[in-house]
This record gives sequence, C-alpha cells and structure tokens, in this order.
Amino acid sequence: MRAAFLNQKGKSLTIGEVDIPEPTQGEILIKVNACGVCRTDLHIVDGDMPAPDFPRIPGHQIVGEVALSTVAEFSPGQRVGVPWLGWTCGFCGYCNSGQENLCDSARFTGYDLNGGFAEFCVADARYCFLLDSNLTDLQAAPLLCAGLIGFRAYRMIGESNKLGFFGFGSAAHILLQVALYEKKDVYAITRTGDTVSQRFARKLGAKWSGGSEEKIPVELDAAIIFAPAGELVPLALSSIRKGGAVVCAGIHMSDIPSFRYEQLWGERVVRSVANLTREDGESFLKIASEIQLETVVKSYSLDHINHALDDLRLGRIQGSAVIEI
Ligand SMILES: [Zn+2]
Ligand SMILES: [Zn+2]
Repeated sequence: MRAAFLNQKGKSLTIGEVDIPEPTQGEILIKVNACGVCRTDLHIVDGDMPAPDFPRIPGHQIVGEVALSTVAEFSPGQRVGVPWLGWTCGFCGYCNSGQENLCDSARFTGYDLNGGFAEFCVADARYCFLLDSNLTDLQAAPLLCAGLIGFRAYRMIGESNKLGFFGFGSAAHILLQVALYEKKDVYAITRTGDTVSQRFARKLGAKWSGGSEEKIPVELDAAIIFAPAGELVPLALSSIRKGGAVVCAGIHMSDIPSFRYEQLWGERVVRSVANLTREDGESFLKIASEIQLETVVKSYSLDHINHALDDLRLGRIQGSAVIEI
C-alpha cells in the first residue's frame, strides 16, 4: 500500500510503499477513504513534540471502511472513524476514574501508532467509532479530532453565553455550530489582518470577529484558545469576567508570557485540555448528527500532503484540510 512516512523530525513526509498491516486479535483493518490534517500533525512533523519512533505514518482523523475484523462489534463494509486516542492501559487510576485521556501509558494514533495517511491502517476496535453521520467521508474526517477534542474543550467552559474563540480554524468552525445550536454568542479572534478568517467566522454565524489587537465589544464569559500562541493566554484572561475560564485546547503552545495576578484574580481559571475520552467521542458524534453539523473542507491527494501541511502552517485554509485517499 502507499503511505506518507515521517522519517526524521523537521523533514517533509515522504510517500512510499509498505505491506498492508495485519490486524491482531482485537483490531480491525480499515481501508482509509479520508484522513484529516490536524495542527498536532504539524507539531509532530516540526518536532515541537517528542519524536515518535521512525518511520511513522501520521494522521489521526481517519474515516474508512472496515476491510477485515477480528471482533464481533464491527463487520466488513461498515464505516468507521479512528481518533487520536488509540489505546489506554485500562487499569491505572486515570483509566479507572473516567480520565483515560490522561493515562500515562496511552498510545496515540499517528504518533505512537501508525495512522491514516495511508491506504490502509489497523486500529484497536475498542477506540473506533461507528460513523452513521450523513456527512461524506471528507466532511466527516475533521470531526475525529478538531470536532472531538474541540468539544472536550467546549464542555470545560461550563455555563457560559458569551464565548471567545481565539484562532478560527478547523476546530473553531465546528464548535461554533455547536455553540450556535445552544444559543450562545461567539466572538472570533484571529491573527491581526486575517480578514479572510474573520469574514469566514461571521459568515458561519459569529456575533463578532476581529484581530487580536482589536477590542472585543463585550466582556466574555469564557474563552477557548485554539491557536498555539502563548501570548493569547493573558489576552484571553483580560477579556473574561470574574469566575470565567480560559481553556487552552491545543497539544502544544509557545511559552506564555508573565502576567499580573489581577488578570487571574476573581476566580478566573486557566486550564488545558488533553486528548479525549471515548465518552467525549460518543457524546460529540451524537450531537454532531442531531444538529446536522457541517464542515468546510479543502481536500488534497496523498501526494500533496506536504502542500496541505504548508497551507495549514501558513493559515491558508478555511475550515479543515483533509487528505483524500
Ligand atoms: Zn488532532
Ligand atoms: Zn491507564
């Protein structure tokens, strides 16, 4: 089969041939139809995160068809999705308290395990989701990480009505739809001068959008930071009311500059969100189908995967980038 390999950090992916993997007991073999490109893929390729074992096939927003199953829960032909969380130990304190996302031994798709930038992949069936959504494979792929981990961040903000989304890419354009469905107002904050993303956010229903240098017209109840820029943390903190939360939704962020204690005072909270649990996935996919969530995607062939990564790095994508296999 053909696949995209990361052989060294900081280097482009290379396309090559490798044997189709064989599923062991408990796994399913999936014929991949689409795999979303996530900012985490960029962090892995660029070496912002500890290097995986090489060569590694990245990609953790996989949509495909079961080709071979070793378990009763899945049968050939079914459409499945594979997320970032690929395996957990099942017995540690985190796994036993509903926090499998924090399991110290967790393995992640496209990082510790080969992922979906390939014609086939294997996955532990216990972490796969059956996809019955009416979305096409291309449109469904971004739900598997941008949607799902974005949703975990969204649930962390609690009862809030005026939400700030800092960074308006793949995850934000999905979560905006959930927020609107729940009758919340979204204020989208983008890079200075990124009028394309600002217009995109307003078109999708954001109450307001503007650059990070502009004054947000209201005091926010909570903020989610999707962009990997640490300087947004003090900015977001200064934008929220007392008791409000700032949730950092990315897996990597540049250093956070120091800020005055008054910005945190008043029971404001700063927290991160790490990975996902299977429960996050099930809840999110249920809501996504209830509200008939749609995604805006830009598709690339496997041969153009480095082009897709560059476009994401340079902020040239509205919505989500997806590799069509
Ligand atoms: Zn991701
Ligand atoms: Zn565990």
